[in-house]
Amino acid sequence: MADASLDEALAAADPPGGRTRRQALVDLVLGTDPRIRPRTPLGLVAALLYLPVIILVNLYAVPSGAVSEAAGHLLTIYSLLGMLSFYPLVRSGFSQRFAEPSLSLPQMLYAEIGAVFLFHYFPGAKVTALQLLCVIQIFGLLRLSPPAAISAGICGILLLLASIFVSAHGDMFDPAIRMDLMTVGFEALVLIMLAALSSRYSRLRLDLERQGRDLADAVKQIRNLVTHDMLTGLYNRQHMQEVLERETQRSQRFGKEFCVALIDLDHFKQINDTHGHQVGDTVLCSFAEAARDILRETDVIARWGGEEFLALFPETEPSTAGQAGLLRLAQRLSVRHVAPGVSGLNLTFSAGIAAHHADESIEQTLERADKALYAAKAAGRNQVSSAA
Ligand code: GH3
Ligand code: MG
Ligand code: MG
Repeated sequence: MADASLDEALAAADPPGGRTRRQALVDLVLGTDPRIRPRTPLGLVAALLYLPVIILVNLYAVPSGAVSEAAGHLLTIYSLLGMLSFYPLVRSGFSQRFAEPSLSLPQMLYAEIGAVFLFHYFPGAKVTALQLLCVIQIFGLLRLSPPAAISAGICGILLLLASIFVSAHGDMFDPAIRMDLMTVGFEALVLIMLAALSSRYSRLRLDLERQGRDLADAVKQIRNLVTHDMLTGLYNRQHMQEVLERETQRSQRFGKEFCVALIDLDHFKQINDTHGHQVGDTVLCSFAEAARDILRETDVIARWGGEEFLALFPETEPSTAGQAGLLRLAQRLSVRHVAPGVSGLNLTFSAGIAAHHADESIEQTLERADKALYAAKAAGRNQVSSAA
């Protein structure tokens, strides 16, 4: 157990099912909404930082007379407000309506004022107050832009100077005041160094975020290249094979029927020969566009190769909906200019449609669709033939 992680130790200590209860508690405290969850842990830590101040002031400072009762009340109420305002605003999602939903800058400024109150009213906690200002600046390092971090640092120093000015009652040459001014001078040095670090860290963070976005875009593009046909934008053969595999498994598990149609453009070589390869490419794209428009959302069509396409009709019988879809597609092509600017170009296709049988492989289904396509071609083209 000595070198076990905290998680393992907690898991071992939990009763059966305890881990889920613990997880539920964590979810309750930090939230599950992906827009909110990344912001809550830091907000919670910031809120909990007020707790030791409340305890220290009420259990030691006020009873011992180190802090007046009125100042004790002020510090307590101020800390309670800090605890009970920002974290609930972030956790409830209310802060999402603001430009910066983490409320980092307001939280920092509020905490800085609190630290300066401590500095002002509790002489025994002056060093702690200055350290708190540094901790607050480090919080900013994680969240703020460089200008905001520098502003927060300057604000902390100005607040300290204001506190000293009020304490001096006009006598800025009082030795204690001069000592405080010197301390604040050193604090300013530390805060400036932290602000500089903050600016460097924030540049690194922005670079990392940009690289992350670029990487995600690149992965998306690569995924697109791997699964799609470059010319028509339809799925390519390789991806369609995976889709067919999945559909076959789905049909085995749930007994859902599906059918496939192998579609081949008629006399396509002639289009190329007469109008050129470029026009041939445009015709292929027009066909793809028409197919995307006409087929249902759930139907899938891919470029199977050259001028051949394969359509998958889930939960469809070939004799009804599958055929109907292909006939609608044929009608659309008959009224559409498949190559703008090229007249007298009529595009037709032949198709072989086959239902997948439970006792056959997808390759066997495709073979029957291919035979049906051959029959459609042999019967004069521009028609759909159903497999036996
Ligand atoms: P059928 O009615 O019997 O199918 O005749 P067809 O001319 O369509 O069939 P064939 O197999 O003789 O010719 C197919 C042509 O499709 C030949 C090939 O150059 C052309 N082709 C294949 N891929 C592309 C492509 O990406 N762009 C263009 N423009 N043509 C292509
Ligand atoms: Mg062909
Ligand atoms: Mg052809």
